[in-house]
Amino acid sequence: MSTATGRIIKTYNGYYYVAGDDGQLYTCKVKGRMKQKRFIMAAGDRVELEARGTEGMIREVLSRKNLLQRPLVANLDCLMAVFACGDPDPSFLLVDKLLALAEAAGIPAALVLNKKDLAPEGLVAQFQSIYEPLGYPVFPIQAREGLGLEPILEQVRGNTVAFGGPSGAGKSTLLNHLDPSLTLKTGHVSSKIGRGRHTTRFAELLPFAGGYIVDTPGFGNIDLSELQMENAAAGFREIQQRENGCRFTGCTHTHEPDCEVKAAVARGEIASSRYASYCTIRQELAEQKKRGKKS
Ligand code: ZN
Repeated sequence: MSTATGRIIKTYNGYYYVAGDDGQLYTCKVKGRMKQKRFIMAAGDRVELEARGTEGMIREVLSRKNLLQRPLVANLDCLMAVFACGDPDPSFLLVDKLLALAEAAGIPAALVLNKKDLAPEGLVAQFQSIYEPLGYPVFPIQAREGLGLEPILEQVRGNTVAFGGPSGAGKSTLLNHLDPSLTLKTGHVSSKIGRGRHTTRFAELLPFAGGYIVDTPGFGNIDLSELQMENAAAGFREIQQRENGCRFTGCTHTHEPDCEVKAAVARGEIASSRYASYCTIRQELAEQKKRGKKS
């Protein structure tokens, strides 16, 4: 028996498939002691195991950088929000929802603007001026023509990345360009996504362009039906940064006097589209909580 460390790439029927740091793929079960703790392990978790050949017993989950709930995946290095500049038009609200999801979960995020040839004058610059100062890289690309993909490849290489965004934004085209072998690995990326195979919320990691990609239905139909955060401000770094300046603790930044967030919006330091998204998400979270109480 020997000790090994590695990364869970898939969970299935009580088995955990671990890509060992030694290059070996281990089929693992979990030690009873850990089952008692009812700790949910996810694809992406780093673990320590006792190995016998290619079989293993997981005895420890190493500390997590972050955890996304739906799909359930740990230790993401980047969430790439993929939108089209046109056909379909990008939605600031949807962009902000994806970025907020990442922010609340502690996952670095970036914004991919596909079909840049369809962008109305100034659109790409507008996105850059809003998001880059916040620390979100913006990548204008033309996936079909393979233009502008190098910086995205750099983000993916050696990392674990999830892609999200609306259908029609060109995710599949992008992914196939970044790693042409992905189609072979999944057999369903190219056109219609077969949902039958993916009936669980458990994600799987697939080797992708020198790193891993999170395999979810549609590669990135990250579930936005329920907002995965406690409060809307947790999703907006520029709001969190200013909350201490508000007169009232627990300020919602909507109707209170002496609100530093509203003042920053008025001064143009917070983009009005971002503030509008914050208000909408806040509203939706409140409704979600109300529904949760009723059921
Ligand atoms: Zn405030």
